[in-house]
Amino acid sequence: MAAQNYLPPSQALQVLQEYEHQDGLSVQDLMNSKIHGGLTYNDFLLLPGRIDFAASDVTVESKITRNITLNTPFVSSPMDTVTEGRMAISMALLGGIGVIHHNQSATSQAAMVRAVKRYENGFITSPVVLGPNHRVKEVLDIKAMQGFAGIPITEDGNLGSKLLGIVTSRDIQFEDPNTLLSSVMTTSLVTAQEGITLKEANAILRTSKKGKLPIIDGGGNLKSLLSRSDLLKTQSYPLASKRPDSKQLYAAAAIGTRPADRDRLADLVEAGLDIVILDSSQGNSIYQEEMIQWIKANFPQLEVIAGNVVTREQAARLIAAGADGLRVGMGSGSICITQEVMAVGRPQATAVYSVSEFANRFGVPVIADGGISNVGHVVKALALGASAVMMGGLLAGTTEAPGEYFYHEGVRVKAYRGMGSLEAMEQKDHTTPSKDKLGPKTATMAANHENAATTRYFSESSTVKVAQGVSGDVQDKGSVKAFLPYLYAGVQHSFQDIGVRSTRELKEKVISGTIRFELRTASAQVEGGVHGLNSYTKRLYA
Ligand code: GDP
Ligand code: GDP
Ligand code: GDP
Ligand code: 5GP
Repeated sequence: MAAQNYLPPSQALQVLQEYEHQDGLSVQDLMNSKIHGGLTYNDFLLLPGRIDFAASDVTVESKITRNITLNTPFVSSPMDTVTEGRMAISMALLGGIGVIHHNQSATSQAAMVRAVKRYENGFITSPVVLGPNHRVKEVLDIKAMQGFAGIPITEDGNLGSKLLGIVTSRDIQFEDPNTLLSSVMTTSLVTAQEGITLKEANAILRTSKKGKLPIIDGGGNLKSLLSRSDLLKTQSYPLASKRPDSKQLYAAAAIGTRPADRDRLADLVEAGLDIVILDSSQGNSIYQEEMIQWIKANFPQLEVIAGNVVTREQAARLIAAGADGLRVGMGSGSICITQEVMAVGRPQATAVYSVSEFANRFGVPVIADGGISNVGHVVKALALGASAVMMGGLLAGTTEAPGEYFYHEGVRVKAYRGMGSLEAMEQKDHTTPSKDKLGPKTATMAANHENAATTRYFSESSTVKVAQGVSGDVQDKGSVKAFLPYLYAGVQHSFQDIGVRSTRELKEKVISGTIRFELRTASAQVEGGVHGLNSYTKRLYA
């Protein structure tokens, strides 16, 4: 028998070079919708690359606007069952950002922005200050309202006046509420001089073992304050999304494009807003262009994310108007019925690719919004050119989402509803389970403001409300403080399989054609899921 004519194994790499194309498809071929139609995340996979580094070496730093880079690409959606103050703080601490919804009064939305900005600080440049003739009860009120009780005492009770002492929670613990602060304050203070760097001030705070470090000028007047708890926060949350100068968490909030939204925005900016999202299901409108231009003229320091868009043509207008970022997705959200009712929208993978390819040429980052239901979807969105992903349903079941848990058919759940659902448009209280499911207890919130959900999905002059979303519930997911680290670690492991160490490398290698893709047939999708078992449990992280 003649010996087979095998090639020598040592030549494997050389022979590989002789193929005209790499295995699999380039992103351009994958996304050729003339051939395949529009794709969703589940319609394709990335092919594995080569691993020569640890998963923990992977960084997923990403721009979410022209001028703001985050350490993780995770954004929580501006929905009234997803992002209020608590979620926004947690998302930012964990390296992402939460966009505070506007289905509430401007005052309460601004209070949430303020809470995010106050939560962590470098130098606290406008600390709450009291005078010696204030009383213990005033400190207690501040503690109840703002959450801190470390109050510097100055001669006239204001910042900039001579520092006399400091009161902290321990000083007032056993005191009568009417006691004067002059009699409980500590007066032998460790202080630092104005002009000191944050690093030096932190070092003093560390060695002094005090809770606060007042910063004073040459005349002994109070200029700012440093808090020990901020050192701990910095240590506990190394990925936190913070302004490099103030060390405050970034705050983002959504608004509409109506005249009243200009007043709303002024309140939010006053509260310290960094990023505004113009919340519209179809962003290519004259109103949005005008709003972007107005914001750029009036609040030039504010980053503006416009949208939503799903085509190059929609994106071009908003980019030209000055958008610093784009939100992409129409009808892909888990609670969404837009495609069904309006007959418009686009499969999300195609939309993300198409808009990112265009917007990235202008340095405008894209947030893939809607339809993210697992770690793989995050990675696919990034591979298609998005800089970040926005999640609603995936986060609505976490502790930090607004609303209480309840039981639905034996499962512990939280309410989750589309902002275009009738329930959101009518401002039904989402903290109570809906009537049709769990009894008659549906409260209607006092409508003391323009209903933002209505303005997003429904024209005022119409007499019939057409829903573009549904109302339901999602399973308990525990805290985002465990869930986001899981997403983060999951993305790191995925990048390792693909063979890239960063989001930037991923994008470069997708565009150059080094990273390859494969379409999945319907049966490939079945194969790729758990199959053939009698029963199983699916635990995602530990
Ligand atoms: P780098 O650490 O020298 O690159 O400079 P940074 O500006 O990042 O930090 C300067 C100092 O501020 C370091 O000692 C940080 O640990 C500290 N730092 C970072 N974030 C905060 C914060 O939120 N509050 C306080 N008080 N210090 C912080
Ligand atoms: P305290 O000891 O009761 O003042 O509270 P903590 O030190 O636990 O919390 C203070 C937190 O609130 C820190 O993260 C501060 O950055 C933040 N904070 C924001 N604004 C102020 C303020 O005006 N005064 C004080 N004391 N803390 C503030
Ligand atoms: P806590 O937040 O209640 O633990 O209070 P702190 O740790 O801020 O302060 C503990 C005690 O030290 C209080 O009685 C303060 O009034 C007192 N203290 C003395 N000197 C200083 C100082 O220079 N700074 C601060 N923050 N507290 C001081
Ligand atoms: P999810 O992460 O749950 O798949 O999708 C969340 C996204 O769906 C939101 O960020 C928003 O863009 C979109 N969305 C929220 N509410 C509605 C709605 O009622 N109708 C539609 N069409 N989209 C919605």
